[in-house]
Amino acid sequence: METISLSLKEIYDLANSTLIFNGCNDLNANILSDTIMRAERDGSLSHGLFRLPSYVASLKSKKVKGNAKPTLESLSPSVLRVNGDSGFAPMVLSVGLPAIIDLTKKNGVGILAVTNSHHMAALWPETEAIAEAGLVGFACTAYKPMVAPAGAIKPLFGTNPISFAWPRPGKNPVVFDMATASMAMGEVQVAAREGHSVPLGTGLNKDGKETTNPSEIADGGVLLPFGGYKGSAISMMVELLAGALLGEWFSFEAKQLDNNDGGPPKGGEFILAMSPDKIAGPNWDKHAEQLFEKMKSLDGVRLPGERRHKNRLSKEPRKINKELVLKIKNLSV
Ligand code: NDP
Repeated sequence: METISLSLKEIYDLANSTLIFNGCNDLNANILSDTIMRAERDGSLSHGLFRLPSYVASLKSKKVKGNAKPTLESLSPSVLRVNGDSGFAPMVLSVGLPAIIDLTKKNGVGILAVTNSHHMAALWPETEAIAEAGLVGFACTAYKPMVAPAGAIKPLFGTNPISFAWPRPGKNPVVFDMATASMAMGEVQVAAREGHSVPLGTGLNKDGKETTNPSEIADGGVLLPFGGYKGSAISMMVELLAGALLGEWFSFEAKQLDNNDGGPPKGGEFILAMSPDKIAGPNWDKHAEQLFEKMKSLDGVRLPGERRHKNRLSKEPRKINKELVLKIKNLSV
């Protein structure tokens, strides 16, 4: 793969100018460009510049509003709803997250019901922001049908990511962020683009047979849940939390309503924040550190999130697929 080196500022500027050219106002463009830049910075490659053409497709088709003005509403002492005004999720979260963090610090627990928004980014930016404020964060969102429930060969569930973040005062939080599919479709698409095979068990081809060819999965095939029926149950939970609980769409409903422009469908995101200060009382952090120390004392163990946090330390330019950069530049002519 031929690459071009871009500094983090160049990545941000490329995303920003492309989004503004294609109809975002400054605020929406700035927030989404920051999410894209941070994904490239941390090596979350399937959610960085790779997603920009899809974001632009949704701006062009008018499915997503580039001038969204999300609004907050209190549903109960511990539940807030942020109506995304058909905007991209990072914009919607920029309004909802500070509010749910404040509320949870007072109440001990808070739910943020994100509705009427379009999510196709990673989830760690939201759970990590909650953990950086000293709270425990959990988030999940549904998508469009791409994953066959255990036993099936047809898609019904989205790739339905879940993310959890644990605060560590003075240190980076422990964060996991994973698709409940055996692999995120973005990763399968990256593997197809770069000519790598994927492990058996990732998905089925259009005839319902297992394959290691990512193109066969991405084009007419189907992904499998991770861990068989166990992952399938967790994916169902995501459909219920991000769909039925919020009064939002299941993945199969989102597809029926989507214009298939390649961008993110409309839907919800369920976010839960919890205060260990309020729930456990003092020394919860020292107690949790004992677990992390024990884990790390075992050969071969690393904590989730450590790879990204290590990547983040580098100030060097990032190597970006040259073909992708040219494709993005062509979106502004
Ligand atoms: P990965 O399988 O790459 O990683 C999942 C998690 O496991 C990460 O937190 C990772 O931490 C951690 N991890 C990986 N290897 C190890 C290890 N050896 N030891 C300990 N922890 C480890 O992620 P996925 O491919 O499943 O998902 C990629 C992204 O796609 C996610 O950010 C997800 O939110 C996003 N996504 C978004 C969707 C949407 O609709 N918005 C849909 C589906 C997925 P680390 O980062 O440090 O490697």
